[in-house]
Amino acid sequence: MSFQQLGLSAKLLRAVDAQGYKHPTPVQSLAIPPILLGDDLMARAQTGTGKTAGFTLPLLQRLNESPRQPHQKRNVRALILTPTRELAAQVHQSVRTYGRFLPLSTAVVFGGVGFRPQAQALRRGVDVLVSTPGRLLDHLQQRTVDLSGVEVLVLDEADRMLDMGFLPDIRRILAKLPTSRQNLLFSATLPREIRELAERLLNTPSCIEIESERPTVDGVSQVVHPVDREQKSKLLSFLIGSKDWTKALVFTRTKRGADRLTRHLQRDGIRADTIHGDKTQGARTRALADFKRGKTRVLVATDIAARGLDIDDLPQVVNYELPHVAEDYVHRIGRTARAGRKGDAVSLVCADESKQLAAIEKLLGERIEKTVVEGFAPSARVANSEGGHRRPRQSTRTAKPWQRPRGYRSTNERRRDEGPRAGRSNRSSRPRR
Ligand code: AMP
Repeated sequence: MSFQQLGLSAKLLRAVDAQGYKHPTPVQSLAIPPILLGDDLMARAQTGTGKTAGFTLPLLQRLNESPRQPHQKRNVRALILTPTRELAAQVHQSVRTYGRFLPLSTAVVFGGVGFRPQAQALRRGVDVLVSTPGRLLDHLQQRTVDLSGVEVLVLDEADRMLDMGFLPDIRRILAKLPTSRQNLLFSATLPREIRELAERLLNTPSCIEIESERPTVDGVSQVVHPVDREQKSKLLSFLIGSKDWTKALVFTRTKRGADRLTRHLQRDGIRADTIHGDKTQGARTRALADFKRGKTRVLVATDIAARGLDIDDLPQVVNYELPHVAEDYVHRIGRTARAGRKGDAVSLVCADESKQLAAIEKLLGERIEKTVVEGFAPSARVANSEGGHRRPRQSTRTAKPWQRPRGYRSTNERRRDEGPRAGRSNRSSRPRR
C-alpha cells in the first residue's frame, strides 16, 4: 500500500515525501480512506503509530477541497482537542508540516501563555485550530473564538482527556459546535466511558483498532533493577555515568519527586531538567526543546506532561518509579523505539512497588528481566508477577567506589579483607533466577 493509493492529493504527497515517509503505517492505511469520505471514525491507536498524520492528512485534504465560504470568514473549520499543552504544540507542528504546501491557516491555543496573541490569531480566522480544552473554554467565554462553523472535530488521546477530568469541559465545547460535522475520536484504550462518549458523539462511525488488546512493546528491551527506594537516585546517577546515556527520559510519579530528582542529578554534575504541570509553559517548552536538541542529557517528567510526546531518537526511558496504572508503563516506554527504532526501558523498582510490577507484567503477558546492579542490591526483595519471591540475578557491572552506597564493599574487597571464602560463599548462597 502506498500513500498515492490512499487517494491523497499531490501537495500532501509532496509533504509526506519531504518527511521521508515511504509507506503509510497501519493506522494511516485504515483511517485515511474513511476520513476522506467524510465518515466519522473511532480509532484505538497509541502514540507512535503515526496516528497524527492518520487524521491530519485527510482532514487537510477535505478542507482544501471545499474552500472557505464567505460567511465562514472567521470561523474555525477543523478543531483538534488534545489533553496536554505539549501534545497540542506537537500536533500543531504536524499540521503545519503536512499542510505546508496548502493555503490553509492554522493556530494552536493552550494555557500558561499569553491570551491576547491567541485571540488576535483567532480573530484573523483559522482553518485548523489545535487546542487544549481549558484555554479553549476561556476563549469561548471571552467570545474570542467562533466554533459555530466547525466541520471536523478531532478528539486526540480521548482516554487521557477523560483521566485528566476534561469530560465536563469537552461537553461544554461540544455544545458550541454545529450538530452537522465529521467527528474523529482517537484513543489509546477504549474503556467504557470512552465507548459511551463515542456512542453519543459519533454517527455510524468506521471503527479501527490497531493492535491486539495486549499492548506491544516491540523493539524496546526492558529490564528491572530491584533497589531500595533510598538508593534510587544514586543508582540512576551511576547508570547514566557508567552506561554513558546521552539522552534519557526519566519518569517520576509526583511533581515534587521530579524536582527533587532533578536537583540530585544536577548536584552530581548531570545536565538535567524537569517537565511537569507546575512549571510555567515557558519553562516546559524550553526544557523540552533543550532536551530534544541535546543541551540537557536527562529530562525528568511526570506522566501527564510527557504523554504523547514525540522525541526523535530517544534511546533510553527510565521508570524511576513505576506508575500506579499499568497502561501508563506502556505509554512511558513507548516514548522510545518509535518509528521502528530500538530502545531501552529501565525500571528502578523497590520492594513496595511489587504490586505495580506484577500488574505491568500481567498486562504485558511476560516477565521483565530483573537484574540487580552490583552495589545496589535491595535489602527487601521485589516480588515477581506470580507473587513469589525470587532472588534477582546479580549484574556483573561494578559501581565505582564513589557511587556505591555507604558501607558497600565489592566481592574482591570482601575477599581481600576477610579471606577468599568470603566472596565465594556469598556468591554460592545467591540463588539465580
Ligand atoms: P504519532 O503516533 O502521530 O505521534 O507519530 C509517531 C512518529 O511516527 C512521528 O515521529 C512521525 O513523524 C512518524 N511517522 C508518522 N507516519 C509515518 C510513516 N508513514 N512513516 C514513517 N514515520 C512516520
